[in-house]
Amino acid sequence: MQVAVIGAGVVGVCTAYFLAEAGHEVVVMERRNNIAEEASFGDAGILAADAVAPWAAPGMPKSLFSLLMKPESPLFLNRTWDPALWSWMRRWVKECDIERYRHNRRLMHRVAAYSQEVMQYLRDRHQLDYEQTTGYLQVYRTERELQQAKAAFDFLTESGIRHDILAMEDVRLLEPALNSSARLAGGLHLPQAESGNCPLFARQIRQLAQAMGVEFHFGCDVKAIHQSYRGVLMQVDDLNLSADAVVLATGADSAALLAPLGMRLPTQPVRYYAATATIRNFESVPLNALMDETYKTSIARMGNRIRIAGTAELGARTATQREAALNTLLKVAYDWFPDACHYNAATFWSGNSLMLPDGVPLIGSTSIRNVFLNIGHGTAGWAMAAGAGKLAADIVSERATDIAVDGLSSLRYQH
Ligand SMILES: Cc1cc2nc3c(=O)[nH]c(=O)nc-3n(C[C@H](O)[C@H](O)[C@H](O)COP(=O)(O)OP(=O)(O)OC[C@H]3O[C@@H](n4cnc5c(N)ncnc54)[C@H](O)[C@@H]3O)c2cc1C
Repeated sequence: MQVAVIGAGVVGVCTAYFLAEAGHEVVVMERRNNIAEEASFGDAGILAADAVAPWAAPGMPKSLFSLLMKPESPLFLNRTWDPALWSWMRRWVKECDIERYRHNRRLMHRVAAYSQEVMQYLRDRHQLDYEQTTGYLQVYRTERELQQAKAAFDFLTESGIRHDILAMEDVRLLEPALNSSARLAGGLHLPQAESGNCPLFARQIRQLAQAMGVEFHFGCDVKAIHQSYRGVLMQVDDLNLSADAVVLATGADSAALLAPLGMRLPTQPVRYYAATATIRNFESVPLNALMDETYKTSIARMGNRIRIAGTAELGARTATQREAALNTLLKVAYDWFPDACHYNAATFWSGNSLMLPDGVPLIGSTSIRNVFLNIGHGTAGWAMAAGAGKLAADIVSERATDIAVDGLSSLRYQH
């Protein structure tokens, strides 16, 4: 088949690679002038499949109000008058039920764990190097936060996932560079989890895909998709381009293409912030990728730089960056690793991810024939990209998938 992939973020690039590997003629259409220019560009780098979890978790609705009141809140709400935002929030609150949390987390974990295997396959097959590191450490500043994480710890135990819940002194042994005066109650260590440079990986997969014949068209903004006798027609400026099938890997802006097709899915773009600083003292950097659970901010090493990322903003429509969010990133980095970097010369960036209320991505077929989705990976798109790309390619090819895909398609929202 001739298959079009719209969007050349890490998810679109991986989808194109596996479609080509399955023998299809593949064209990628991207409105930017290069791959990985949007959410995949300044990604925090965390690939911890075992830590992938929905935002909608027990206790979250209660903590939401107090979170929003904090000056250094890891969450901001914009456009609070927007009915679409409230409708999304209502659905999100329903997903915070313990049983829904377990169900959603299992689905997300299934995709992310599979993705880890697929990345391993790609790494071994093509000798990829994307500044990967091993080990992921969640740090908790207070006893209360440790108590609140109980549902998450229980999930790891029940699922037989290797993890260590650490007392404060064990955290410090594991991460000797942690600031000794920073407040710390304990931690969770996932020794097998990885981190890596997302755009660097995407660039290598793009080259491999091109070598298999995938065509990349940049500056190609797809305005609409229509069904046709052959498959699909895509409207790009005044041109109508046809293909047998199309996969949308369009990230945060997917609703603009889906709504005219009658697919009104509860998607919400969420903005995240990132800061990148050059290392000045290699003895003072983290050995593991670290997640500060109080500020939901991660710190990960990428070569000779540190990437600090976090703070979610719902309902943001303009490109203006929120200064409070950037300050929080620097505060967290200073709190834990004050001597690691030249933080005053850090560069800042923000990008949008697409999130469903249940946190589970949309991968697979839709109610429209020949239109497939690979969107809605939220905060875990890098951790899921390789696996999601392979799953989408197998579904388009009508092949058996390596893992169960029930619960992943958009049909769960279209009764
Ligand atoms: C600051 C930050 C930190 C993050 N940290 C992590 C992390 O540590 N671990 C993790 O797993 N995930 C993380 N994420 C999430 C992850 O980066 C995303 O889920 C992932 O990059 C999504 O990839 P994508 O290819 O779907 O989207 P994108 O990279 O946004 O790509 C979508 C592409 O589609 C193109 N496009 C959209 N509409 C059209 C159209 N109509 N026509 C043509 N092209 C179109 C866009 O231009 C874009 O290039 C983070 C996100 C951010 C913003």
